[in-house]
Amino acid sequence: MNIHKYPIIIVGGSIASISFIRTLREEGNAEKILLIYGEDRLPYKRTKINKNMVRGFNKDEFIIADKAWYTNNNVELLNVWAKSVDAEQKRIYFNNDESVEYGKLLLATGVTSVVPRLSGIEPEEMHSVQNASDVERLLEAAKDKKRFLIIGGGVEGVETADQLVRKGKEVILASRLKYPLQKLFPYEFIQPLEESMLKRGVELYSGVSVATIERVGDKYKTHLKGQELVFDEVVASTGTMPNIQLAISAGIKTERGIMVDEWMHTSDPDIIAAGDVAQHKNGVITGLWHAAEHQGKLAAINIYSKKEAHTQPPYRLKTEVFNQFLFSAEYEKIVTSEYDVLKEDEKAVKRWMYFKDDKLKAALMLNDGLRAKQYQQALMEEWSKSKVKKELPLQAPLSFNFSPSL
Ligand SMILES: Cc1cc2nc3c(=O)[nH]c(=O)nc-3n(C[C@H](O)[C@H](O)[C@H](O)COP(=O)(O)OP(=O)(O)OC[C@H]3O[C@@H](n4cnc5c(N)ncnc54)[C@H](O)[C@@H]3O)c2cc1C
Repeated sequence: MNIHKYPIIIVGGSIASISFIRTLREEGNAEKILLIYGEDRLPYKRTKINKNMVRGFNKDEFIIADKAWYTNNNVELLNVWAKSVDAEQKRIYFNNDESVEYGKLLLATGVTSVVPRLSGIEPEEMHSVQNASDVERLLEAAKDKKRFLIIGGGVEGVETADQLVRKGKEVILASRLKYPLQKLFPYEFIQPLEESMLKRGVELYSGVSVATIERVGDKYKTHLKGQELVFDEVVASTGTMPNIQLAISAGIKTERGIMVDEWMHTSDPDIIAAGDVAQHKNGVITGLWHAAEHQGKLAAINIYSKKEAHTQPPYRLKTEVFNQFLFSAEYEKIVTSEYDVLKEDEKAVKRWMYFKDDKLKAALMLNDGLRAKQYQQALMEEWSKSKVKKELPLQAPLSFNFSPSL
């Protein structure tokens, strides 16, 4: 059998791989690349798909680069699911048992949604919002369905609730968390969000676990806090799991994700990994767009030698939901006693900035959205408290758009 050989193969088409290709070319590498991607469209901006449900989107609307970009960059595209990797032979196998051979392999396979096993409902009956095609399926269902149960109070669950409410749907948001976005903010930041959600008709059930969903005709039913709830569709936003199957088949080190060192190298010298699938030395799996982009870049820089080590910049999560702008950076790392905390409030704007040795290490912000980039810069540059006060003074609602039209 004639097996195609490529100096570089990437599995997984998304931001880590695009950033990897871009950087390789910027660095002067012109080797042929094979990009294996499993979804039904070219790599796209995943972050957009659940934030544009109100208006919907065309199939190729959010693609990161068009076909010509790949051709111009000497990248061959292969739209297929990779089944396994034989690291000894440096081969990637597909379902039809055909294979390709690599010199270097980048695994940028990201994550898959975890749909919970609940009694009374099959996982396939529930929706998730991981891929563009998932959102398209949800939008199709939303055409003639009215009432949605969303399970999960994380960012995705709340963003999906926001979009469905804007589409005129009724939403029940049920979560094990004590309050929505609990992992990213203390309750003081979430109270206004909860109020806004309730005002917009969201039925909030926090601190609950959905165990059983019963099918009743063409509807579903469950019980929460003594209430019987009836709804048409279920959306599971209950977390994700790194796609490590290929890495396992290759025999490289994995835990929750693929173990990488600070150069994005795995335990196999010819396999690198980047993005949401990578687990860093401190145990972190980043789960954020810009982090995956940064890691793709580092993977390219370090592909043939260890040139630039990965340090974990303070990535932030920002979201605009139910007319609130929320920004959180490094909250999960904070042990309050170790930090000097600057807490400021001005009408709808609130921010808590965390300093260690007079360096900004973490920040939470509500409704100062137009200056989000400056908050990010302050974190990256570890501004002192006096610099924050001088260059980023608290500004009341000036910077927040209260437009009731959303
Ligand atoms: C709905 C949604 C909204 C989000 N919003 C934000 C946000 O606002 N801000 C933010 O910072 N982050 C956000 N994120 C997270 C962000 O999208 C991810 O961090 C980022 O996409 C990770 O990129 P990645 O390159 O690691 O891989 P991914 O984007 O996860 O893509 C991996 C790709 O690899 C493919 N793949 C996996 N295995 C195989 C295989 N065996 N063969 C072929 N292909 C394979 C997958 O199908 C997928 O297409 C959001 C995520 C989702 C789902």
